Amino acid sequence: MSPSSITEVLIVGAGPTGLMLANQLARRGVGFMVIDRHAGPSVETRALGVQARTLEIYSHLGIAERGLELGKRATGANLWIEGRPAARIPLADMGRDLSPYPFLLILGQDDNERLLGEKLREHGIEVQWNTELIGLAQSPDEVRVTLRQADGSTREIRTRWVAGCDGAHSAVRTLNSIEFPGAPYEHVFFVADTTATGRMVPDELNVYLLNQGFHLFFPMRGRDHWRIVGILPPELRGRADLQFNAVATTVRTHVGGSLDFQECSWFSTYRIHHRRAERLRDRRCFLLGDAAHIHSPVGAQGMNTGLQDAYNLAWKLALVSSGRAPAALLDSYEAERLPVAQRLLQTTDRMFSLIVSDRLLSRIVRTRVLSRIAAFAMGFQRIQRLAFRTISQIGIQYRKSVLSETQTGIPEEAPHAGDRFPWLRVVVSPGGPVEDLFARLDDTRFNLIVVGQPPLSSEPAELSGLLRTHEISVDSANADELIRSHIPSPSFYLLRPDGHVGLVGTKLDGALVTRYLTERLGFGKASVG
Ligand SMILES: Cc1cc2nc3c(=O)[nH]c(=O)nc-3n(C[C@H](O)[C@H](O)[C@H](O)COP(=O)(O)OP(=O)(O)OC[C@H]3O[C@@H](n4cnc5c(N)ncnc54)[C@H](O)[C@@H]3O)c2cc1C
Repeated sequence: MSPSSITEVLIVGAGPTGLMLANQLARRGVGFMVIDRHAGPSVETRALGVQARTLEIYSHLGIAERGLELGKRATGANLWIEGRPAARIPLADMGRDLSPYPFLLILGQDDNERLLGEKLREHGIEVQWNTELIGLAQSPDEVRVTLRQADGSTREIRTRWVAGCDGAHSAVRTLNSIEFPGAPYEHVFFVADTTATGRMVPDELNVYLLNQGFHLFFPMRGRDHWRIVGILPPELRGRADLQFNAVATTVRTHVGGSLDFQECSWFSTYRIHHRRAERLRDRRCFLLGDAAHIHSPVGAQGMNTGLQDAYNLAWKLALVSSGRAPAALLDSYEAERLPVAQRLLQTTDRMFSLIVSDRLLSRIVRTRVLSRIAAFAMGFQRIQRLAFRTISQIGIQYRKSVLSETQTGIPEEAPHAGDRFPWLRVVVSPGGPVEDLFARLDDTRFNLIVVGQPPLSSEPAELSGLLRTHEISVDSANADELIRSHIPSPSFYLLRPDGHVGLVGTKLDGALVTRYLTERLGFGKASVG
């Protein structure tokens, strides 16, 4: 790129968050560059859990099926106390009827990054490896960025927007003087990818609750392949040359039985922090993923949250870059995603403190009460569904967002503006088969779902080429599904490209849709970038 040319978006960091943003921008025809200071993709598994909401997004990207082939569905969690089996929590189909992917998928971060990277290459785009952002200067119209290359030389580029997907030590965050308050947890953790045999229930999560903490065994692809996570025994802390063998002895003692390790392909120790950026935006720079929030791995939320930060920002950047919407639309990124990060930190912190605390009460809860309560509670379908909604991230909503408008007449229990539109299986073409509505949605456009009334006679001019309409008739084929989802008739739901409801009302009216687009999203008020 010549120094005089300007790129629309610079994505800093090609971890899962940066790769997701790159894919979403590529699909929407936005020009961008994606750089990473490393020499190539990460080969560490790190995050392991892929949540249902992420799989729904993967399905639009065309990588969900491959992910399912490579990963393992978490069918159950087996709780062990001091080496003895205590309870089993069934996890298979936890979210039946709530998502096409009613389970947690165990698929390593390296596989996720590979799938996202391959998809990006299909758009003819390569990550520029060995390229580190080391400086930036913002002006009203652009950002001038200094990049360091593999040979140590530097170059300057101009870009309209910078997406800081550059992880916990984010340079984009630091260079914009955005605080990252929080603290490290006291304990040091270890993570090991092993081949092991023992009493673990194959292909399921095995959770060993101990007086002094826990060990988690995640089943990985291949035979007897387990990822183990746990607290490093205090006497092993601070040892520079620490190898898995030293930890294996402790794990064997805790787990008991005939646990035998044949191999360890990756071993690492780390301290976990809980921190959140004070702001997610500074003028033309945004923070996403670990650059914006880090927390304990409880509930396998970290990578998934970053992926969804990217999904939230991408469609907004696309509308602004194409001149359809003004830059003010981008304010909604922070307004919607900062509360998500805030809640995530609070909940993971509470759970994590209970799991790792050395206090007597916590130890009793952990080893005597937790497993019984968890197993008992998960026997109730309502609790199971609530847990699934929360952990799978399908329950994340932006009801308070300025982009959310629920008209009067929509019942309390019905999906509201800001909610992820529920998964429906309905007859869309009269006399046709029952179809998965999610598979029909086009996530590069807005989707208008019209229930029990005629569609708009013409597309609103503001949305020309950007709207797909789906009519759901209220007949015997669809009635049960609409009742189950609390969707009233007549009604209409205008979905944003990310599947969240923007506008919902009873009587569909073109003028109402146009007013929503103008007032809430600023359509027709754009000035160039
Ligand atoms: C040991 C370990 C275990 C974990 N286990 C789990 C788990 O079980 N579940 C879970 O959900 N999460 C887990 N996590 C967290 C999870 O890995 C992160 O949430 C996830 O990687 C965030 O993705 P990201 O793309 O935002 O950031 P990263 O994956 O950190 O990617 C950031 C990228 O930016 C690049 N970069 C940084 N600075 C620059 C710069 N100045 N210029 C150019 N490029 C730059 C880096 O090279 C990197 O590739 C774990 C993390 C660790 C370290």
